[in-house]
Amino acid sequence: MLNFAVGPVPSSAAVKAIGALDSPYFRTPEFSQIMLESERLLCRLACAPEGSRAVFPTCSGTGAMEAAVMGLLDSENDKAIVVDGGSFGHRFRGMLDLHGITNVPIVLEPGTPLTEADLAAVDTDGCTAFLVNLGETSQGILYDAELIGSFCREHGLLLIVDGISSFLADPFDMEEMGADVLITDAQKALACPPGVAPMVLSPRAIERVGRLNQPCMYLDLRVMLSDQERGQTPFTPAVTTILQIHERLDAISLTGGAGSEVARCAKTAEDFRERLAASGLPFKMRLASPSNAVTYIESPDVSAKSLFAILKDEYGIWLCPNGGASADVSFRVGHIGEHPLSDNALLIAALTAACSRLFDASDCGARG
Ligand SMILES: *Cc1c(COP(=O)(O)O)cnc(C)c1O
Repeated sequence: MLNFAVGPVPSSAAVKAIGALDSPYFRTPEFSQIMLESERLLCRLACAPEGSRAVFPTCSGTGAMEAAVMGLLDSENDKAIVVDGGSFGHRFRGMLDLHGITNVPIVLEPGTPLTEADLAAVDTDGCTAFLVNLGETSQGILYDAELIGSFCREHGLLLIVDGISSFLADPFDMEEMGADVLITDAQKALACPPGVAPMVLSPRAIERVGRLNQPCMYLDLRVMLSDQERGQTPFTPAVTTILQIHERLDAISLTGGAGSEVARCAKTAEDFRERLAASGLPFKMRLASPSNAVTYIESPDVSAKSLFAILKDEYGIWLCPNGGASADVSFRVGHIGEHPLSDNALLIAALTAACSRLFDASDCGARG
């Protein structure tokens, strides 16, 4: 299968080779060394400020989002601004509600970037934190890190960044942005199987986790931080995924670092967008502040559900479907993971063939 979903994504040969082996026992000095090295590599790739720490909770990205909300925010004293511009922003907002954290949502029209005017309109009175999915994957949008960072500095807000789809796909400098928490995920641009959602915490975030001391058993950041001091985790981690993440962090560090990984992804995205624009296919790309990780494509004339099914069943290609009301009128194409540019050519050829069939048989999918 050629997989253009936005997670899980195709992995490198080295990552797949690790997946073919038995998981080793992990309460050993050797495994601890790997965990400590991964922490060092991740902090460096994220440009984390001096004194930052990384932890490797075994959960999907949503688990790490919730660990951040539970460990760093306090229902008595915190009030959080949250960007709700798509399904992941909505998820953050729902989590804040669930955990009783007063919040001020910035609700954006789907597909529109966050602007200075949106921020200026927020009543920041009593606000202590800011939560954002830097790449709002559901809309293919990348928000402006500099704009958000300076707003948070100006108002002294703790900044929690979900960089799950954008980290290693789009430029990110934790120190420059002034982010206190970076949340990532194994199966996005890290291009490993799912199972672990690495997080980076700034000194200010670490201090806060220790001070708040929020009750939680499985996703307790305090215990994770303390165990990670010796390269261990409180509970059995997804051992193989941890080893695969280490391999990827090491490989990226040895081949030019985060900058060249981001450049590679940018080139894949640009190549796809150029080919689609030149194809004459009846689609419209949304390119207002796009993330390199994914392209959002409106398909007003061709049923996106039919396209997804035809490409999957007849061409062995997975598109990235959208949910809810957009499911039949739009879809996405992911650019993260191992995608040689020739994959883009295959995808455009399959889309062209499927569209022409859907148009020929107007009763089986094409509209209008
Ligand atoms: C994929 C993703 C997540 C995590 O989703 P899971 O289903 O928990 O893996 C969270 N935020 C963003 C922006 C994502 O792209």
